[in-house]
Amino acid sequence: MGIATDCSCPICGIQPENVAHLFFECTYSVECGTAVLKWLSFSHCKSGLNALLRWVQRTASSDFRRRVAYTAIAAIVYHVWKARNTCIWQLQVPSIQKLVKDIQGDVKYRVQHLISKKVSSSDLLWFHSL
Ligand SMILES: [Zn+2]
Repeated sequence: MGIATDCSCPICGIQPENVAHLFFECTYSVECGTAVLKWLSFSHCKSGLNALLRWVQRTASSDFRRRVAYTAIAAIVYHVWKARNTCIWQLQVPSIQKLVKDIQGDVKYRVQHLISKKVSSSDLLWFHSL
């Protein structure tokens, strides 16, 4: 039909766009994910959703911190998807700093509204220090 589609990643424009690349391999996504996980005191960032989830499962020091990390991973995927769409429809790439700040705000907002009374005082202190 004469419609040309560009299959490259709209953010970096280098690699083909697919789920693995967009969310876990693109330099933009990796930098965002690394910054957010570092903010939560997770020092390494694994590639791929399953590897990342297993790694958080093994390394989180408490169930609460594990749940916060899972919330952050969901927020990273959501915000990278939004950034991808902003690239396509508005021809702008949101800065990594803005994306990280938006993710941090969303994680804090979501978790604050779901904190149970069973969370330890050390975990509460950790969360409120974020
Ligand atoms: Zn890319």
